[in-house]
Amino acid sequence: MYLVAHPNGYVLFDCGLPVAHLVGQSEMTIGEDTYVIEADSSSSVDAFLTAFYLTAADILAVVVSHLHFDHAGGLSALAGVPTLIQEVELSAARERPDENPLWSRPGGDFSDLQIVPLTGDHDVFGDGSVVALATPGHTPGHQCLFVRLGSGEHFVLGGDLVYYPEEFRTRRVPAIAWSREQSLASIARVSQLLDSSGARLLLSHDPDYLSEVRLAPGDFYGTVDSKGSAASARRLQSAKPSYRQGGTNG
Ligand SMILES: [Zn+2]
Repeated sequence: MYLVAHPNGYVLFDCGLPVAHLVGQSEMTIGEDTYVIEADSSSSVDAFLTAFYLTAADILAVVVSHLHFDHAGGLSALAGVPTLIQEVELSAARERPDENPLWSRPGGDFSDLQIVPLTGDHDVFGDGSVVALATPGHTPGHQCLFVRLGSGEHFVLGGDLVYYPEEFRTRRVPAIAWSREQSLASIARVSQLLDSSGARLLLSHDPDYLSEVRLAPGDFYGTVDSKGSAASARRLQSAKPSYRQGGTNG
């Protein structure tokens, strides 16, 4: 879970485990293997927001990297928040719910959410500071989030583009991949972006993560750079109500 602070609103990237897995120990069966998940309510999206004195009502939008249970499980707590997901990801989870045991909602029912389907890259505020990047491969509609901070630092929030930095460095496709070919293309795309922008890639399952990054609310990387043209500022103003009112329920 990441909180991105832009002058015009807060954006969440991913929202963690579903409530059913926030009970101490629980199990997840994938194929013939059963995994033990250890997590409690301190890992909920509600607890995460409370740490910032926020509630779901304060969030402008949530960008979901993909619909696996450990990234999209918290959506039930964000039912009123515009939820930006790639259209192909929704289609796969709805039409082929049994194809992937990791889908956050095995029945493919997202009707309680305020879904904003995306087709490809999407500039959230219209000023280039927070941009969803279509990076399919791990799942059909996986996406990363590019973030440009006012400090000059750039980040790519990677979701499950890869699990570990070593996989990224050696261009190796992680064990779970819907399409190896598309995974490799997405890894190459993000690699080029890191080279050209100087961005840092932040992953979701890197075991060294906790010791290598600044963790909010005690420490953080700063707020988004919202500097842009007057035209992009106007686009930003018009974008906000459309997220809040124009989402397609699904
Ligand atoms: Zn995943």
